[in-house]
Amino acid sequence: MTNPLETSAGPSTARTDRMPVVFVGHGSPMNAIEDNRFNRGFAALRGLVPKPKAIVAISAHCFVNGTYLTAQPNPRTIHDFGGFPRALYEIEYPAPGNVDLARRIRTLLGEQRAALSTDWGLDHGTWCVLRCMFPEADVPVLQLSIDRRLEPARHYELARSLAELRDEGVLLLGSGNVVHNLRDAFRRMQTGDTETPEWARSFDATVRDIVLQHDHEALVSLWPQHESAALAHPTPDHFLPLLYAHAASTDADAVRFPMEGFDLGSVSMRNIVWG
Ligand code: ZN
Repeated sequence: MTNPLETSAGPSTARTDRMPVVFVGHGSPMNAIEDNRFNRGFAALRGLVPKPKAIVAISAHCFVNGTYLTAQPNPRTIHDFGGFPRALYEIEYPAPGNVDLARRIRTLLGEQRAALSTDWGLDHGTWCVLRCMFPEADVPVLQLSIDRRLEPARHYELARSLAELRDEGVLLLGSGNVVHNLRDAFRRMQTGDTETPEWARSFDATVRDIVLQHDHEALVSLWPQHESAALAHPTPDHFLPLLYAHAASTDADAVRFPMEGFDLGSVSMRNIVWG
């Protein structure tokens, strides 16, 4: 099988193409249209990574019964939220897909463990970030769903099999939040209580330390074992993209946190770059 990432310039040399891995805290969909420090942070990530040949995004908002890869030449923009201003529903992120790469990644994941999908697209966890990071929308984007039925250790195994794509100029992008409890955030929004609670600080700091120590085992067992896990993530959808990104990193990767802090009191907006 030919490599779907090879160009007419010929196969690239592996090392020089090795891509960093990125985890981004996407937060509110409003970050797509407001001018605030969070979406300026998304844009700033562009300066920390070389331009990739393709992007594989693992978003919290594709949390379904199965592991699927978008496999369309032109994945559609999904507006998967309700009650927001019209301008948010009018956003299109017209990045192309890469069907051959989707097939290849399915092989890496295991034919029995993953399938191709042509009836989904890019959700706001992916395009809110990418429209700031790559506004030209000229890099092919695939989205990988998160199988809600799997234990964290199984997600980690799947994610490890994607790590070699880094040597082929593919950017692996996890999009979730290190701390994400919508019920708590809504309550704070209504009452104006923007104080960050101790459980949110504790979980966020634990993740920071685990990432700095490259402690893969600790991250895999963090949810739901950590004492603040149930509050930090009542459901694991916004946590698991972090596991995917971390699994593709190695001890040799420098770790950077280009964005830290909280929105709405308890939503961690931490971004992480490995490599
Ligand atoms: Zn989200």
